[in-house]
Amino acid sequence: MQITAVVDEQKCISCIGCKLCVWACPDPNTIRYIKAKKKIVIDPQRCKGCGLCEAACPVKYIALRMQERELGV
Ligand code: SF4
Ligand code: SF4
Repeated sequence: MQITAVVDEQKCISCIGCKLCVWACPDPNTIRYIKAKKKIVIDPQRCKGCGLCEAACPVKYIALRMQERELGV
């Protein structure tokens, strides 16, 4: 089990331009903003579980939260 950041696309406000989690993440390739879809995508394999994105999110614990996940090899 590993703690990783998980985004709820229904609650995330990236559609109105929020990218605070992208800017907060110390690894530039872990959270990406997909411009064409106006969506946030998190790579669970790269996420270190530091929680900085969750702390920066204005909809924290709802749109973005830390979650225990079983990651495949
Ligand atoms: S928990 Fe840390 S490493 Fe993972 S996506 Fe958020 S800021 Fe990046
Ligand atoms: S900081 Fe929160 S609301 Fe903003 S884009 Fe990231 S997950 Fe969505």
